[in-house]
Parts: sequence; C-alpha cells; structure tokens
Amino acid sequence: MKDRPITIAKIDSGIVIDHIPAGKAFLISQVLGLNALARKTGDIIAIGINFESQSLNKKDIIKVENLSLTRNMLNVVALIAPMATVTRIENGKVTEKHKVDVPDSVGDIVVCPDRFCITNHEQVPCKFVIVGKGPLTMRCHYCETEFFGPLIKYKEKN
Ligand SMILES: [Zn+2]
Repeated sequence: MKDRPITIAKIDSGIVIDHIPAGKAFLISQVLGLNALARKTGDIIAIGINFESQSLNKKDIIKVENLSLTRNMLNVVALIAPMATVTRIENGKVTEKHKVDVPDSVGDIVVCPDRFCITNHEQVPCKFVIVGKGPLTMRCHYCETEFFGPLIKYKEKN
C-alpha cells in the first residue's frame, strides 16, 4: 500500500481541508452544507476518503472551489476535526495555510441534547461554551446541560 499515488481534483482557487480523521469528511460536508452549496454554485467539491496519512494513518480531505470559510464554518471543522489544516489557494498558489483552533464557544451548529431546553421548543439560536477539549465537552448557554461524545449532534444542512 506504500507510495500509492494520491489524486484528487485540483482546484485553482478555493480551500483544502486536510488531515480530517477518516470517516468524518461527510459529516463536515453535511454540517457546512457543501452539497447545497455545490448545487447552487456549480463549483467543484471533492471529498476524498481514506487517504494515506503519516500522522493519522488514514485521513479524509475536502476541497472546495471558490470558497472561503467563515469563522462559523472554521469552528465546525475544528470541532469535528481538531487536527485539520486549512489551505487557501488563489490562482493555483497557496496563499494561506493554518491549523484549525478549537473555539471557546460555538453558535447555532449543534443541537442541545436536553429535550426540555428552550432551544428545542422556540426559535432561539443555540449557543454553547466549550468546557473541555479532550474529550470535546460543551455546555448549553441556556439550560447549562453539559455533554460530550455521541451526544454532540451537529445540525446537518443536507
Ligand atoms: Zn440547552
């Protein structure tokens, strides 16, 4: 399996999210709403699964043409793939490359697991404080429920 060539659509401008844990690319794509975005813009979105990685053994990669990530989108990537790197490409050249930072708080991208929470009954945008990073643990701003692991359910857009 060594030296297997890695090829994934080349993009001239856009972003590459690399070092995503294997199996997480589709979740990131769904939470970022990349599918809907691709249908709207017609731009290339390439999702690579199970690429060889020295640091992670296996990794996923996402490339999106003509996209830049908002703070909120970067937070999604950081929560799901804390080791990810984001590379920005303009006219075929790398203009920026950085690791993601796990934020101290996040907005309306996760669902509060407490079914009595106001956010599950009224149109209130969710807010969470990140109270732990290993394992990732969140506290709801409204009902103060703390949760981690599979209780972290991301709002998927498509
Ligand atoms: Zn809550």
